Amino acid sequence: MNLILGAGLAGLSASWHLHHHDCVILEKSDVIGGHARSIIADGFTLDHGPHISFTRHDYVRDLFARNVDDAFHEMPISVANFYRGSVVEHPAQVHLWQLPQPLRAACADDMKAAAAARLESDLCTPRPPDNYLEWLRRSFGRAFADALPAAYTRKYWTVGPEEMSVDWLGPRMHTPSLAEVEASLVPGSRNKGYYITTGRYPQTGGFQHFFERFADGAHIRLNSAVAQIDLAKKTATIVTGETLPFRRLISTLPLPDFVRLCSDVPTDVSAAVEQLDCTQLLLIDVFAPRFSHHDYRWFYVYDEDKASTRIHCVENMAPANAPAGMSCVQVEVYSSRHRPLGEPPESTAVRVANELVELGFISAADLEKGLVRIATRSCPFANIVFTKPRRSALDTIFRWLEDHGLSREPDDLDATTDWGADPASPVGSIVMAGRFAQWKYFWTDDCVLRGRQIATTSAGRN
Ligand SMILES: Cc1cc2nc3c(=O)[nH]c(=O)nc-3n(C[C@H](O)[C@H](O)[C@H](O)COP(=O)(O)OP(=O)(O)OC[C@H]3O[C@@H](n4cnc5c(N)ncnc54)[C@H](O)[C@@H]3O)c2cc1C
Repeated sequence: MNLILGAGLAGLSASWHLHHHDCVILEKSDVIGGHARSIIADGFTLDHGPHISFTRHDYVRDLFARNVDDAFHEMPISVANFYRGSVVEHPAQVHLWQLPQPLRAACADDMKAAAAARLESDLCTPRPPDNYLEWLRRSFGRAFADALPAAYTRKYWTVGPEEMSVDWLGPRMHTPSLAEVEASLVPGSRNKGYYITTGRYPQTGGFQHFFERFADGAHIRLNSAVAQIDLAKKTATIVTGETLPFRRLISTLPLPDFVRLCSDVPTDVSAAVEQLDCTQLLLIDVFAPRFSHHDYRWFYVYDEDKASTRIHCVENMAPANAPAGMSCVQVEVYSSRHRPLGEPPESTAVRVANELVELGFISAADLEKGLVRIATRSCPFANIVFTKPRRSALDTIFRWLEDHGLSREPDDLDATTDWGADPASPVGSIVMAGRFAQWKYFWTDDCVLRGRQIATTSAGRN
């Protein structure tokens, strides 16, 4: 039997691509969908933080479209940033004219110098940056790097950029040329540079609607948290005490949880697990009468004195997500062992509500009149943090799992997967799948493609 741990996108995709043949999925929650699930309650449809499909893979685009019978919205993605009272379009490095003075002038000078230095260094072979801060300063100059992305890094990734590697960056951060810096200073200019340009979202049912058909015909056991795994005996025991044998174990559980559930873990592997960093998400849903309309799909909040890190209105993804005249503003607040929340979630929620008044999402009068309802949800695994020890810690864990049937893949330490590269090695009897099991920068399309890859590479071995 293929025993699949977790009914999030990666687990569902693996089962669906295996035609659910000989597959059983164990899911600890009472619902499917994992991080990409949607909740429908009181007329609102709520995802777990903003989810939109911006995949460049035709296979996933077509699959999602088919799953909703083509009933999706396709929308341009325009994003903005809040920075000390200014609204600056994203990416801020190509909209310098919207930055307040004197920062604007300092950023322009530094950014031009950085662009010129890069041109010069192109003539020789520059030393690769040692860390993300160095990369930021080389790309944007010190003034911009320190005031904006470095500050945002501390809020979103919860560590300083000097502690992060650069292997996760890919096309995420646009480095402006000299000409682009000049153009970014022209008042009124709208400049490109964000790696997400358009996105798709189901017309109804929330993001989950894109993939819930994967569950049709699947053998899913809800409320079945795995409590123990015996790799030698090839069994998994669920909280009820029931033990299930497996021929192949496909885990989508967060890797640290998976290792902690295993028996006889060597001390170096337990120590490696402690080096893996992930953020926790406190998601604050603020339900209020619709107050102000924002043309942007979501907002990044750079100010370090504000808890709010990213904000979006659920009805901006699909009008059906909120009842007429009402809004749900979702605010993400991140913490980790490096940057604990330091207060009860309810206290953060109150702070966030006041920040939303200041930023123009809800009205002070509505808040005072009690017309605003606030709910919080916590998520223990949100974003993998690409700190420098990640690769060697993963290597230690995977080397140990290799002894128990994991088949190593050439790119298993990389932050992302190149789906166009040569097919992965055949899967073994232990398989890691998904964002938190592979400890990679995976979006929903990566999780779908991983499920397909598992089915393809295990064909003939079943
Ligand atoms: C705030 C935020 C916004 C995002 N926005 C986007 C976006 O716009 N577009 C996009 O493409 N991607 C987005 N993502 C990424 C996307 O959510 C993830 O890549 C994807 O949902 C991960 O799926 P998964 O199956 O790998 O993991 P999960 O969804 O975490 O699935 C793992 C499953 O395992 C279950 N489980 C855990 N422990 C046990 C246990 N002991 N026993 C049994 N079951 C267990 C969990 O309940 C869960 O259902 C976003 C992520 C975050 C954090």
